[in-house]
Amino acid sequence: MENTIIINPVTGEKIAEYNRITIDQVQEKINQSNTTYASWKQKSYKERAAFMHKLADILDENKEEYAQLATQEMGKVIGQSRKEIEKCALVCRYYADNTEALLKDEIVKTEATKSYVTFQPIGVVLAVMPWNFPFYQVIRFAAPALMAGNTAVLKHASNVQGCALALEQAFEKASFPEGTFTNLNIDSKLVKAVIEDKNIVAITLTGSDPAGRSVASIAGQNLKKTVMELGGSDAYIVLDDVDLEKATTLATLGRLQNNGQTCIAAKRFVVLDAIYDEFLALFTKKMKAAKMGAPTDTDSYYGPMARIDLRDELHEQVLKTISQGGKLVLGGEIPDQKGAYYPATILADLKPGMEAFDTELFGPVASVIRAKDDDDAIALANNSQYGLGSGVLTSNNERGEKIALQLEAGSSFVNKLVVSDPRLPFGGVKNSGYGRELAAYGIREFVNTKTIWID
Ligand code: NAP
Repeated sequence: MENTIIINPVTGEKIAEYNRITIDQVQEKINQSNTTYASWKQKSYKERAAFMHKLADILDENKEEYAQLATQEMGKVIGQSRKEIEKCALVCRYYADNTEALLKDEIVKTEATKSYVTFQPIGVVLAVMPWNFPFYQVIRFAAPALMAGNTAVLKHASNVQGCALALEQAFEKASFPEGTFTNLNIDSKLVKAVIEDKNIVAITLTGSDPAGRSVASIAGQNLKKTVMELGGSDAYIVLDDVDLEKATTLATLGRLQNNGQTCIAAKRFVVLDAIYDEFLALFTKKMKAAKMGAPTDTDSYYGPMARIDLRDELHEQVLKTISQGGKLVLGGEIPDQKGAYYPATILADLKPGMEAFDTELFGPVASVIRAKDDDDAIALANNSQYGLGSGVLTSNNERGEKIALQLEAGSSFVNKLVVSDPRLPFGGVKNSGYGRELAAYGIREFVNTKTIWID
């Protein structure tokens, strides 16, 4: 069995090596998680909330250590890693404080003496998670799942196993009973066996759509519930009444934050013809000025991508788009330096059928598309296999809202980059997945929504 080797995306050198566990060890850990579930589900919301608050405190207290680890393993600029840990603590506190109300019994008036809906935990849930927000993606699932009374096992991305271990230790430090949250350092080939284990009741996956298809089909064969948080290639429609200065600043941040590797990042900019040239010129100026550098330098706007193979794949997509007639306006060349760096890149005059229009580009590459008018912009935005988080930039909120309502996406924001907020549901439509995380919708994914009738 091969160990997991972690490579620093800045230097291309090995940072650490973690032991993968055997299938027997996996089974032992799932059994332990199931044993723990029997007592964990009996605890009151207040009791579980005390653990969750402690976890939030541990995350706050160890923020610097966890942030440095995320930056070291996947290259995110350090300020953004710190914010990620802060957001984890926020989500823990949100569910600690609100689960009792979110899962309160719902009385329904019928001809019964008493009838109501109650929300009960279901058992051990498997989470398959990506590296791009190595702490937040896990907590976004685990905080509600555990507060609802379930236990969790994690198969984290191979390149962030240090973060996976740190998360498991954070739960331990917060005194959660052994087996409430367990890291499984396994190859993705073993995920099938985990899904098939009789004690696994449901699966959540955040990642690419090929991984989602594979996991969802195995879960389907086993009639186990899934939530799929997959890729996106969402459009931001830029209307002709926009403040171009503000819009291009937002576009630059939207495309480059997290080194361009965010599922809900602004990836395709659909710009109305009247301002297209002006938008492109100013956007190019700002993307060019954004400093690429070591993620530990506080003045770096963006760092390297997470892995060299992902960078090379992105470059192939850029070259393919150019060969299909896309116009390279900025970047597009692998820099002559160590690590997984890729420069801020702009591809313009894109049309349906071109690689950067049709697929997800998971790195610092912006796609710019010309639209004739509002209706054409909506049609171009919706001409995508994905539908996760889109946006409208305009100085007219009413016009923006009218368009937002017509966009095929799980979230559409007007004049703000799409973000996940614990108070609001988060998820996708089409190939971006199904099911929701966060708010009441997220916590109700992994419960038995049970009817009680007293005649
Ligand atoms: P990925 O390659 O799909 O990996 C995600 C997780 O799935 C990792 O733990 C990976 O393990 C595992 N995995 C991969 N193939 C698998 C398979 N066939 N069976 C079982 N498990 C498998 O995705 P990524 O590169 O880490 O993340 C980038 C993608 O995630 C992008 O498409 C992005 O848009 C999407 N994403 C979506 C959301 C959302 O909320 N909708 C959020 C963040 C990211 P290994 O690492 O061991 O391969």
